[in-house]
Amino acid sequence: MHRFFVPPEWIEDGAVVLSDGVARQLSHVLRARAGDRITVLDDSGWEHLVTLTEVASDRTRGLVVERSRSVAEPSVRVTLYQGMLKADRFELVLQKGTELGASVFVPTLCARSVPRPRGESRESSRLDRWRRIVVEAAEQSGRGRLPKLREPVPFSEACDGVRGPAIIPWEGETEAGLKAALGRLRPNAGALASLGIFIGPEGGFTQEEVDQARAVGVVAVSLGRRILRAETAGVSVVAAVMYELGELGG
Ligand code: SAH
Repeated sequence: MHRFFVPPEWIEDGAVVLSDGVARQLSHVLRARAGDRITVLDDSGWEHLVTLTEVASDRTRGLVVERSRSVAEPSVRVTLYQGMLKADRFELVLQKGTELGASVFVPTLCARSVPRPRGESRESSRLDRWRRIVVEAAEQSGRGRLPKLREPVPFSEACDGVRGPAIIPWEGETEAGLKAALGRLRPNAGALASLGIFIGPEGGFTQEEVDQARAVGVVAVSLGRRILRAETAGVSVVAAVMYELGELGG
């Protein structure tokens, strides 16, 4: 069934009025008809099963026939501080990270990050494009909440924003592995409510960055003997964390 994240105000008293891109997609792309069912999400963790009553490209109406809690949200809130990468690779991390259950993405400007595009309009159109990628991946993968996408921040600001347990995979770390570090962050195999994950850019983190992260309590971990590309590392660590916490099929 097709799923759409919509602004909460589009749903009122059991009735739904869809406009903009969602209405256009339903009428033109999906050729929906009155009587068809869709799932509408308002980013509250609730899902609304809706029967369409009127389909038009400017305004499509429907009635909520059932409301249920989303079952797809992970119990751990993962914030991925991903070092800025070339556009297509960064987009891959956003898409796959959303599918895997990340809750927050923080594009992080590292000492070795590729420079950011000049000009505010390019910056905002890039963020719009990224938001669309996150929304599409969230709809397609059945998420009940939309992952947050923050504006790019410098590495030191990202460090200052860390609250709770966090790890920084770093190829200079030879002792602590990911599994052991996660074990220590959740005593007695208890629940982990949140986890920050710092992934470096293509050129990796500088020693100063790793020191700075450690100074605010972020734990350096190894991902083993092979060096993963930055986008592979971001996606793999989210997957491994979800697996370890029983959020990837058991
Ligand atoms: N500095 C490296 C590559 C960086 S890989 C170089 O150019 O030689 C990009 C990021 O992925 C790293 O900053 C780190 O966060 C993560 N990463 C990749 N492989 C890793 C490994 N084996 N152990 C820990 N972190 C790794």
